[in-house]
Amino acid sequence: MKVILANPRGFCAGVYMAVDVVDQILALCPDEPIYVYHEIVHNKHVVRRFEERGVTFVDRIDEVPSDSIVVFSAHGISPEVRRAARERRLTAIDATCPLVTKVHMEAIRYARDGYQILLIGHSGHDEVVGTVGEAPDAIQVVESPADVHNLRIHNPNRLVYLTQTTLSLDDAEVIIRALRHAFPNIKSPPSDDICYATTNRQTAVRCIAPDCDLVLVVGSRNSSNSVRLTEIAEAAGTPAHLLDDMSELRAEWFEHVETVLITSGASAPEDLVREILAELIARYDAVVQQYDVYDERIEFGLPQSLKELMRERGVDPSGRTITLDHSSGIVDWLNERGGAVEPVRITISAPARVGS
Ligand code: SF4
Repeated sequence: MKVILANPRGFCAGVYMAVDVVDQILALCPDEPIYVYHEIVHNKHVVRRFEERGVTFVDRIDEVPSDSIVVFSAHGISPEVRRAARERRLTAIDATCPLVTKVHMEAIRYARDGYQILLIGHSGHDEVVGTVGEAPDAIQVVESPADVHNLRIHNPNRLVYLTQTTLSLDDAEVIIRALRHAFPNIKSPPSDDICYATTNRQTAVRCIAPDCDLVLVVGSRNSSNSVRLTEIAEAAGTPAHLLDDMSELRAEWFEHVETVLITSGASAPEDLVREILAELIARYDAVVQQYDVYDERIEFGLPQSLKELMRERGVDPSGRTITLDHSSGIVDWLNERGGAVEPVRITISAPARVGS
């Protein structure tokens, strides 16, 4: 069996930042309870590991005791949540991904300029709920081309569409086409809202999956970008499974399979990929290659609110950066094993985005 590792895969810059924010708060305030509003990122292992270290995840701000520390997740929040946190005198640390904040800013600006905003995304997803909250009277969510006929439009010349950051590029394109057909003067966002990490992971799967017999996507079922990767593989004609970890591997998936592609969603930790890889090497004597579609080097700084907390606690935040290790380590791990594996980097010429 040959196993191909897609690169890029796994943690994006926004997830590195959000996870590291909670890590750094745990180190800064070891004796205080830490609350996180919503899952910090949509991955059950990341959440469980923090719970084991004493972090409490809540779905309502009134679950957080007054004067406590609360972290807002990478998916962003509505102003109402921010207000509720202020009323409870919470120390709020905002781990919203800057690329989600960018979409919030666009929504605020277009609403202020009198536009109706059509937000392409999944109703009820944390990110969409947060963005809608910025301008609830101006925003309508569009989930599919069928929704276009039910929109309430006052002035078709004062319309703009925005998108959730983790959509499938293809699905979004179909909806945008339907919107343009119905409203030829609709404006597009100043820059793409679907983020670089989503774009690059999807591009990698779209390039490699057609040459494989099976695609494994490591990620949780509530991770939008992980689910999209699975759908993209299936759309390319290759059976695909989304799995949280090695325990979900099924022997029947591998019958008559010679080439397996492994990728992971933007919130899936790399050690879970490594465990699956080790299992496939042990079970099938698999040979491993990594296909580099794009080498990502995006990094976000620590949020201002965390730096302020550091100052309050007597820690100088200047020069402080994300402390998580960005290198995957898997290629080195494969090399160290020697013999049984063949880590080869192959660069595929494909369109990819550096970032926004
Ligand atoms: S997937 Fe994109 S928008 Fe979401 S956290 Fe990662 S970089 Fe930010």
